[in-house]
Amino acid sequence: MSLFFDGHRMSGKLEQLLCKIHQQSHCHLVGNATTGLWLALAALGLRGKRIAIPNSVCLNVPLAVLLSGNTPAYIDVTLRDFGIDIGELIKKGDQIDAVIAVHAYGSVCNIQEIAAYCKSLGIPLIEDLAVAQGASLDGQPVGSFSDIAVVSFGAGKIIDVGHGGAVMTSRLSLMNELVAREALLDVQSSSSQDAVSAFGQYHTDLYNRHYGSGINVFSTAFKICALELRQHILCRFDRVYGLMIEERLEKLDAIVLLRQAKAEMLESLLTSFESASMEIFRPPAGSVYWRFNVLIERRDALLKSLLAKKIRISSWFPSADLFFDDRAVSRMNTPVSDYVGDRVLNLWVNEDVGSEYIETVASELADHVTVGNTCLRDYDSDGRKQ
Ligand SMILES: *Cc1c(COP(=O)(O)O)cnc(C)c1O
Repeated sequence: MSLFFDGHRMSGKLEQLLCKIHQQSHCHLVGNATTGLWLALAALGLRGKRIAIPNSVCLNVPLAVLLSGNTPAYIDVTLRDFGIDIGELIKKGDQIDAVIAVHAYGSVCNIQEIAAYCKSLGIPLIEDLAVAQGASLDGQPVGSFSDIAVVSFGAGKIIDVGHGGAVMTSRLSLMNELVAREALLDVQSSSSQDAVSAFGQYHTDLYNRHYGSGINVFSTAFKICALELRQHILCRFDRVYGLMIEERLEKLDAIVLLRQAKAEMLESLLTSFESASMEIFRPPAGSVYWRFNVLIERRDALLKSLLAKKIRISSWFPSADLFFDDRAVSRMNTPVSDYVGDRVLNLWVNEDVGSEYIETVASELADHVTVGNTCLRDYDSDGRKQ
């Protein structure tokens, strides 16, 4: 019997390692986490349903929902952990058929309460730990709280080999269903890779030119482009990457600690500048740092100036619904997600940066905040210096 034919049951070393890390019993490698989410929704038999997702999220999450023939129900997030606000989820309870809980930015969301709520309604819960590998809650690893969990090994993730992801579950029947559906997909061709990169560039350009709510004008065209990605983005795992992922996963603890050390350096440099103009986001215990986040006033001006100086910086995520649905029609109201989208600044903590970056970026932020305060203090309401 061939190993590949029966791959998920006779799982290889990498699959076993992932099951061990995330306390699940079955694991299947996929081309990317977007495909993983799409397969998870399909394997759960969800079609024509409303899937709750946090609105402060990477746009691949609503994209996977749309590609699976379902509709995203955007739920506001909480400033405590940047994940789904359980109160908002309960308000929408009678309108949703499943939940994708995201450990955004590596911050562990309120997964225990979300899981209990889904159980009480009898609806499935998918856990997206694309950027949270290594995180845990009360000692229990992320990926183990849900019916089905999805991780990514793509560019910029905690384990970054530029390709792949994995889906994990404790239910064999669900895994069999998923593997059967995946058999219809191909390995991604280079032209498909180009199409996905081009779309990513379109998304970034749109964002850089219009930032927050200005993006919404383009939502109709954007959604059409996004849906056309179907045959390019959904793909199988390329086994060439397996060994590289395995080697990096063996070092997961060390990778997480290095990121944390950098986050702690940033925090110690920035704490004394903390105010209403710059809030430091401190994720719950057990979280990992995808990036280190601050919420800052006049964010866009600072972002532009840092980018002009070629300093690594980003401001993910604007509220995801802005890309896909016209708010004049949807009447979407997620004030916390919008607040995060307008103010968040993500500082790097991965292997690309060292202490020089940390000192530079911290001093740029400190200048930005202090100059802002000086203006308020030294100028009267007509702008005259006092
Ligand atoms: C990056 C990301 C995805 C998509 O991962 P890919 O492997 O690039 O498809 C999904 N969810 C979240 C939260 C992400 O950050």
